[in-house]
Amino acid sequence: MTDFLAPVLPRTAESASSTTAGLDAWRSMTAAQQPSWQDPGVYAASVKELSSLPPLVFAGEVDVLRERLAAAAQGKAFLLQGGDCAETFDGATADKISARVRTILQMAVVLTYGASLPVIKMGRMAGQFAKPRSSNDETRDGVTLPAYRGDMVNGYEFTPESRGHDASRMVKAYHTSASTLNLIRAFTQGGFADLRLVHHWNKGFMANPAHSRYESLAREIDRAVRFMDACGTDFEALKRVEFFASHEALLLDYERALTRIDSRTSLPYDTSAHFLWIGERTREIDGAHVDFLSRVRNPIGVKLGPSTSGDDALALIDKLDPNREPGRLTFITRMGAKNIREKLPKLVERVTDSGAQVLWVTDPMHGNTVTSRNGYKTRNFDDVIDEVRGFFEVHNSLGTFPGGLHVEMTGDDVAECLGGADPIDQEAFLERYESVCDPRLNHMQSLEMAFLVAGALSKS
Ligand code: PEP
Ligand code: MN
Repeated sequence: MTDFLAPVLPRTAESASSTTAGLDAWRSMTAAQQPSWQDPGVYAASVKELSSLPPLVFAGEVDVLRERLAAAAQGKAFLLQGGDCAETFDGATADKISARVRTILQMAVVLTYGASLPVIKMGRMAGQFAKPRSSNDETRDGVTLPAYRGDMVNGYEFTPESRGHDASRMVKAYHTSASTLNLIRAFTQGGFADLRLVHHWNKGFMANPAHSRYESLAREIDRAVRFMDACGTDFEALKRVEFFASHEALLLDYERALTRIDSRTSLPYDTSAHFLWIGERTREIDGAHVDFLSRVRNPIGVKLGPSTSGDDALALIDKLDPNREPGRLTFITRMGAKNIREKLPKLVERVTDSGAQVLWVTDPMHGNTVTSRNGYKTRNFDDVIDEVRGFFEVHNSLGTFPGGLHVEMTGDDVAECLGGADPIDQEAFLERYESVCDPRLNHMQSLEMAFLVAGALSKS
């Protein structure tokens, strides 16, 4: 029973003040990027239903993750966080989910070897259904409709019916997250994560002659696995891995409805995911998102773009991690390859000088978005890698720990980002561009990135 989470229903006025107090303060603050639900009755019914559904994750798991992230903040572990920019309901199939989990596990093996450290495996999965947009509307052929905001809010199809903001989609997002998480748990606990199997899959990557430059590292990993085998390593015990779920906590109605009081600690946990992050567009210090997330026990991330000042970073630390608790706060920097070497050092120095210890993670995707000549939103693999290199250079020169990698990726053979050793060109977009939001690294590009980062980690 200790992990059981009761809905947020105060037993007495006294307990209400110690537990649920403040969880609704955000409602009177500016909340950027929120939907305008079209039907108040559907909205009320959906929130009520969500509030009584079981939690998707347990508080005990969330606490374990905080400990793991604390180790990473101290340079004793590395975080790998990856998945779609936006999950879709249609995309929640066994094939796509397993391909993504498999790719993350493959990347993690390579990174574990490169870092000689445990790798914390985390999907941008089972809840990444809401997106911030730069414009409220989209116009096509003279017709203007609300922009697509993720399957949790509206449909991608360009019709007035589909683009209306339908609160019942939050309930569908919950159920899709539950089935996704169920499959992830089955895979990662049921033998799919066996180190020998994952290592075998990586041999498929090496079979492509375009990847021959990674051969020596691949051979070293192969020798290491054989060495472990010769030493009598219990590979059966390595069949299970911890795998955590995360998403951007954008839609506050959804996050609030899934927040529960843990019966062990009497503290609120947002049970929609283990880890939640605040996006670059919703991180105002006096805004609703920062306030709400400051009140839940989950480890929290904040995306920091190139305009972030040292004062902004310190204010976020004071608000989100006032007790300076290791593992509580992760800064996910997304500066752009051309900015990172100039902008990141000042931020890291200010944070370090303040005595705070955060986990620094690089998101090399969001600062490097361009439009291809044939009109697709894309990213150059070389720019993405350059930002990762810049991230390592900056931390290595300051003596701080480059603690993680956050990528938009898929396990499928899509064509959305340009380049890579077996290069994707823009003509391939016509056939294999599937993302409804930002472009993702495909299976091979993701593995190639893991090999490149492993090389950088082994030197840092
Ligand atoms: C994202 O992670 O998909 C995203 C919108 O990022 P950011 O908040 O950094 O722009
Ligand atoms: Mn994105």
